[in-house]
Amino acid sequence: MTITPQPGIMDIKLYQSGASKIEGVTEVVKLSSNENPHGPSKRALDAFRQAAGELHLYPSTDHTELREAIGEVQGMDPARITCGVGSDEIISFLCYAYAGPGDEVLYTEHGFSMYRISALAAGATPVVAPETERRTDVDKLLAAVTERTRLVFIANPNNPTGTMIDEAEVARLADGLPDGCLLVLDGAYAEFVDGFDAGRAMIDARDNVFMTRTFSKIYGLGGLRIGYGYGPQEIIDTLNRVRGPFNLSVPALKAAEMAMRDVGYTDWCRTENARMRDWMTAQLDAMGVAVDRSEANFVLARFEDQTKAEAVDAHLKTKGLIVRLVAGYGLPNCLRITVGTEAACKRVVAAIKEVL
Ligand SMILES: *Cc1c(COP(=O)(O)O)cnc(C)c1O
Repeated sequence: MTITPQPGIMDIKLYQSGASKIEGVTEVVKLSSNENPHGPSKRALDAFRQAAGELHLYPSTDHTELREAIGEVQGMDPARITCGVGSDEIISFLCYAYAGPGDEVLYTEHGFSMYRISALAAGATPVVAPETERRTDVDKLLAAVTERTRLVFIANPNNPTGTMIDEAEVARLADGLPDGCLLVLDGAYAEFVDGFDAGRAMIDARDNVFMTRTFSKIYGLGGLRIGYGYGPQEIIDTLNRVRGPFNLSVPALKAAEMAMRDVGYTDWCRTENARMRDWMTAQLDAMGVAVDRSEANFVLARFEDQTKAEAVDAHLKTKGLIVRLVAGYGLPNCLRITVGTEAACKRVVAAIKEVL
């Protein structure tokens, strides 16, 4: 074969998604991808259905209505928002626009898989900084920065650990980065943290911080693929050059706009998630299973070793419960369990009790 891909591309491993089916089991509950178990807002679903009448028309290229809805609800300047096919697409725009061969993209030990994939796809070099006890460590990140570092990604709260660092730590990281290096705050789980602005105020006050957000988690629209980025005007203008003009479909734009405006539903999802997450954490703790305090919509259960984690996973499968083994994230003795409905959480806890 003489047709060869660009350097770095073949270093990208094909993505292994969370399973969604179990052979021979009918009542399957999927708790492996941090989806909202209650689904999206009814108003978002109505908007999606109504969009069926407009499918012959191209969508808006500038996403004005959606950006205005986000701006109003999140207290952001709509001119400094750009929307993408999931926050995944915003992450890849950032890498294409700011990192190429010879440049480094830095993230933490148990960081989200897209940082590495997008860095390699852009021809840049992924660099990993250690965490401390499954928590982002600002000093270790700063120690890993070189004159070639262009982008630093941290998810806050982080996936798959569920932990987060406070605003003062994030500010210290932003302050410690050299000129020409952008800090990207991945806020995929930010809405689950009560009263958290995900770094918005910091972004408004600085020129080296950016954030990505998604409609896939609390808004329950993972199947639609829509997310957004917020940051300095120059960065937004740059990303809009890389972005395809028709990247988002009419149904995605309409549904996301209504999901964003249905603040009451988002608030209910946050409260309900916290209730079941804290219940599950306490139950696991009482069984002697180690769990960090999670700020997101999943918990990370730690077992003695990989064999035990796999045995628990296998037992859960026989009960129709799909959770996530996270060896691929460097946590071979752990299971990441999405906070499901009350019934699902009770089934998970009962099944783990059985196997222990
Ligand atoms: C789920 C998740 C996302 C969301 O990706 P989308 O492309 O918006 O679905 C982003 N970052 C992290 C850390 C996640 O866990």
